[in-house]
Amino acid sequence: MAPRPRIARTLPALHRALARWRGAGESIALVPTMGALHEGHLSLVRLARRRARRVVVSIFVNPAQFAPNEDFANYPRTFDADSKALAAAGVGLIWAPSVETMYAPGFATRIVPEGPAKVGLEDAFRPHFFAGVAIVVSKLLVQCLPNVAVFGEKDFQQLMVVTRLAADLDLPVKIVGAPIVRETDGLAMSSRNAYLSPQQRAAAPTLYRVLKQCAAAIARDERIARVLDEGGAEIEAAGFQLDYLEARHATTLAKLESAADGPLRLLVAAKIGRTRLIDNVAV
Ligand code: AMP
Repeated sequence: MAPRPRIARTLPALHRALARWRGAGESIALVPTMGALHEGHLSLVRLARRRARRVVVSIFVNPAQFAPNEDFANYPRTFDADSKALAAAGVGLIWAPSVETMYAPGFATRIVPEGPAKVGLEDAFRPHFFAGVAIVVSKLLVQCLPNVAVFGEKDFQQLMVVTRLAADLDLPVKIVGAPIVRETDGLAMSSRNAYLSPQQRAAAPTLYRVLKQCAAAIARDERIARVLDEGGAEIEAAGFQLDYLEARHATTLAKLESAADGPLRLLVAAKIGRTRLIDNVAV
């Protein structure tokens, strides 16, 4: 059995563990997560291990990125299973701070990202979300000062926001994006998939199927607006309430008139029952 990772729950414990590695001249990669780990998270860990000698995984369900009507209280928390999976994946350190450690009494700082955080995708439906992500990711990066930090393309807009944030704050870290890991039927893995009823789970792969179909049609030069209208209708016919299905510039996330205007990314968000799913593909 792989040795259990060290678990740091306080900043002094985190700094001690990291200082030991840094003192030995070892490079460090950080993989931020909210726990309830699945194969998608573990693929980030594997990528992190290729990029650095040591890997620290943070597990923190960040209240700042949930709106009052969202699922913070019910978000799945599976720490024992997570730490076993991370041990098997060769992770040396888990950073698992409490909410009080991250947001001590008197905490009064906000970071309000713009640019890719204000393009009318996730930000239009979760207006509090990227400020919550920005503060927690900034704190995690400053706490750990990793050489590399790995984020999934699953949260594509978040990856763009974090890349911008690290550059704008001159944080000496390389932000690395990792491809989306999917179930065999194409559904992007997500901790929130656990909320789906069997019937919803059966409908859920529609998102990826439609994304791929739309990407192929756009690559064949079909008109983007019509392709996305038809795709959106198909998603709604499968029982989803569609938040957006859009084609955007793959790095700025700006709206595009035509496929010739740049590398394209198709992004979708939709609710099925009370569960909100997101996905995206390159064109
Ligand atoms: P979360 O725990 O949902 O906040 O996700 C932590 C990190 O794992 C984020 O960078 C996500 O983008 C990434 N991630 C989540 N699901 C997947 C997936 N299916 N494939 C790749 N990365 C993922």
